[in-house]
Amino acid sequence: MPEGEPAWLWPATLAEALDERRRLGDGAMVVAGGVWATLLLNQGLVQPEAFLALGRVPGLDAISLEPDGALRLGATARLSAVARHPLVRERCPVLADTYARVANERVRNQGTVGGNLAEADYASDPPTTLAALGAEIELASAGGARRTPLRDFLVGHYQTDLGPDELIVAVRVPPATGAVGHYLKFVSRSSEDRPCAGIAVVVALDPDGRCRRLDVALGAVAATPAVFPELCARALGQRLDDDLLRDLAEAHAAGVEPLSDLRGSADYRRRLVRALLPRAVRAAAEPSDP
Ligand SMILES: Cc1cc2nc3c(=O)[nH]c(=O)nc-3n(C[C@H](O)[C@H](O)[C@H](O)COP(=O)(O)OP(=O)(O)OC[C@H]3O[C@@H](n4cnc5c(N)ncnc54)[C@H](O)[C@@H]3O)c2cc1C
Repeated sequence: MPEGEPAWLWPATLAEALDERRRLGDGAMVVAGGVWATLLLNQGLVQPEAFLALGRVPGLDAISLEPDGALRLGATARLSAVARHPLVRERCPVLADTYARVANERVRNQGTVGGNLAEADYASDPPTTLAALGAEIELASAGGARRTPLRDFLVGHYQTDLGPDELIVAVRVPPATGAVGHYLKFVSRSSEDRPCAGIAVVVALDPDGRCRRLDVALGAVAATPAVFPELCARALGQRLDDDLLRDLAEAHAAGVEPLSDLRGSADYRRRLVRALLPRAVRAAAEPSDP
């Protein structure tokens, strides 16, 4: 290794990884799949003293079912593994579908659950669906572990609540008993691009067709997934008819403060929310609807 080149550290256990993380703090760059890390390095945007690679930590990529029915996605599980995993497909198809919508096969085969979240790019897919599902992030440091709602973990553009001595260990998705979901990704450039807008909905209906649960998250329109639980609460006990969905879409479009970028202006994104939200809810509640 040439002098001055950052060292590569390959901890063999999670405990070792956490010890190194505490020792080196932000001096070491954590690397999981390396998709984002490589881009930053190639552009000279980061100059770490060392790389802390998670790829050889056993079990950190496990996808499992918790005793309470929650799905647990290990931090280094590949995006493609989540998309294909029978447990995820059976228990939470909307999550599998969302991971399957990320970029292309190459990115999905390399990128990881934890890396996608820690990157905290606003134009991402999984955080939107995870926000609608009420997912929690499991974080660990050498000093202990904690759980935080995804909605609190993502704090702004490329900013998270991750401490300098912490690692993402897993994402926990509570059971959505009796509910169905849909993720609608709208791309304005190539089909493999990041979303211009993404809408995730989770719906549960009573046997008489009245709404028992509605969660909506708007992705890629603001710095972090936008959720308006007070607006969704208006649907409880109601039938999700055209008038109600139109009102909900209007209220969400009025409540969100969209950003403008190459993929679309703020006004365009507001229009997308208005048009796509009813479509996403219908697709969840009436799965035969294309
Ligand atoms: C061409 C292209 C298209 C893309 N399109 C999409 C898209 O359509 N939708 C979408 O959602 N995403 C998209 N992405 C983003 C992609 O999903 C992420 O870059 C990738 O998933 C990051 O995962 P990784 O494991 O490679 O992270 P890495 O590059 O290894 O790390 C990313 C960041 O997370 C930190 N990190 C990684 N793991 C942990 C951990 N366990 N604990 C703490 N910190 C950690 C790293 O230090 C780094 O800062 C695209 C990326 C590219 C290059």
